[in-house]
Amino acid sequence: MEGCINTEKDVDKLIIKFDTYKKQTFQTFEHLVQHIEKLKEDIQNEADFQNSKSQHTVIAQANKKLKSHGQKLSSQHKDLHSSVSRIGKTVDRNFDMECGSINMHEILPDHAHHTLFNQAICEHFYRQGSVSIAESIAKDANLQINDKWRQPFVEMNDIISGLQNKMVEPALEWCARNREQLHKEKSDLEFKLHRLKFIELIKKGPSHQHFALQYSRHFQQFAPVQCKEIQQLMGCFLFVKQGLSNSPYCDMLSDDIWAEICMDFLHDACRVTGMSVDSPLTTSFSAGCQALPALLAIKSVIEQRQCSGALSNNDELPIDIDLDACQHYHSVFACPILRQQTTVKNPPLRLVCGHVISRDALTKLVSGSKVKCPYCPVEQSPNDAKEVFF
Ligand SMILES: [Zn+2]
Repeated sequence: MEGCINTEKDVDKLIIKFDTYKKQTFQTFEHLVQHIEKLKEDIQNEADFQNSKSQHTVIAQANKKLKSHGQKLSSQHKDLHSSVSRIGKTVDRNFDMECGSINMHEILPDHAHHTLFNQAICEHFYRQGSVSIAESIAKDANLQINDKWRQPFVEMNDIISGLQNKMVEPALEWCARNREQLHKEKSDLEFKLHRLKFIELIKKGPSHQHFALQYSRHFQQFAPVQCKEIQQLMGCFLFVKQGLSNSPYCDMLSDDIWAEICMDFLHDACRVTGMSVDSPLTTSFSAGCQALPALLAIKSVIEQRQCSGALSNNDELPIDIDLDACQHYHSVFACPILRQQTTVKNPPLRLVCGHVISRDALTKLVSGSKVKCPYCPVEQSPNDAKEVFF
């Protein structure tokens, strides 16, 4: 982060220099054009100019002036070059170029991995609402985007851009279609949307009081849960004449509630459709940014001590990486027998008795065609053990 701030500072300085240069160049050109125009006028007015002794001097002076200004501008332009190249040095100084040594071929060894990676990028842009970028990526990377997969993203983004323009109808329609799931998730999104519409009506003053009252009927269905909120909204009617901005309800008029409803919608829509609010790419990227300094440090230690084997195990890092709590998604399972963290190749298995051990431990415990649970100890067939996914 510090590297970004330092680079940004230098880039800002350069932008100021460019702006100043641009301004100066325009001023100089304007001044020179005026000067030449004046000279032209003088020549036209002075009938005898051609024979005048001063003609050489005047033209030579003008020539000298043009040349000197041209040289000044060109040397200033050269200075800009050195400032631009200084940015490159700032980048080198502030960022670790080691990251460039990551072997993409090892990370994405085959076509299938490449496709998954492109799909993650594509999905990220769909989520961000940049549908045209996502579609271009899909086309360039030759991704087969299923319409069924794409549709929820496009719809969600349409609804959010509607909400950004204070249009609640598409969102309400979506809520009506997904009412059952929203109810299961104990979401108050539909109520909040009706509340927004009500506030928009009532803040228009006495002329819209009647419409607001009529609209308030929508709150009936929410009465058992949102009773207190509805009472507050009804209180607004007392202040219609004097204006809500001078009432205890003035907070409701803030435009912030529109930004909040966009976030609420995104959150609830993701929950209902079974998607995470942040795109997996954003999450992986921010986790990677947090982990990278420690990984680069350990890499240089390993290189110095020449024990490169420590990094060769793909499933395990040689050090613990502490990520923020918001980056904690999956519980880890350590096998109680082998005291090792389970991996994809050595997953946790649930025995018939309910005890969970790693596959390697189970293989070691098998005797003949039976295995005895090391805890209870129920005898069972190792084939009955089921893989557990955390
Ligand atoms: Zn057991």
